[in-house]
Amino acid sequence: MGFRRKIVAGNWKMNNSLSDALALVDGIVANLDKHSTTKVIICPPFPFISPIKQHLKDLVKINLGAQNCSEHIAGAYTGEVSAQMLASVNCNYVIIGHSERRTYFNETNEQLTQKLKRALENNLSPIFCIGEKIEQRKNETHFTIVKDQLKNVLTHFSEKELKNLILAYEPVWAIGTGVNATTAQAQEMHAFIRKTISELFTTDFANGLSILYGGSCNAQNAKELFACADVDGGLIGGASLKAADFCTIVSSF
Ligand code: PEP
Repeated sequence: MGFRRKIVAGNWKMNNSLSDALALVDGIVANLDKHSTTKVIICPPFPFISPIKQHLKDLVKINLGAQNCSEHIAGAYTGEVSAQMLASVNCNYVIIGHSERRTYFNETNEQLTQKLKRALENNLSPIFCIGEKIEQRKNETHFTIVKDQLKNVLTHFSEKELKNLILAYEPVWAIGTGVNATTAQAQEMHAFIRKTISELFTTDFANGLSILYGGSCNAQNAKELFACADVDGGLIGGASLKAADFCTIVSSF
């Protein structure tokens, strides 16, 4: 499946001031392998997206994503940020369904479906996150959980509508814990996700879909994780806040 795009996306979460964020961008620009064909996406907090875009000018190909968007189009939703607003500041990607949003903000499949709809209406490429909790892996329901997460949201859309979709498998027990999935666990689940997508849609669509791994992926373990046949890159939390580490991960194919 050589045509699948290699992607590394950084999820900065709620970290840094604007000056820290711009310094991090400068560090990434300085360390990035200019010949790499990997698509690089950084997802800073909302207020930094536009300043980073302006700071980058046309210097290098670093794509910008948001960490969330509202399920509503516009209106009296204090504190929310719409997909249309993101598109208007040249943000091209948006993370949807991160486990921290599912857990701390109780985001449901219905809301995630609406968020995906808003993203697609505004030509944002969604990075849709799925993944099981530790108890679900322990009681061996992890495949069912992930299949349901995919099915309950993605089947509201056509394959054509989802042409820019990116998936991120992020086992919740691996996020921010320092305990990454083993290569065997990652490959097994990524292959399962691809098979599920081919059943819900078509094999062609499944084969062209980039599925990123996320959960304590770092400069040390990225190479072996990215070497798995069905792992097309990573969604990186903690290690995306260190320019040198993030750039090493980008070069880990
Ligand atoms: C994440 O939150 O998407 C993530 C993968 O975090 P970390 O890399 O810190 O585990």
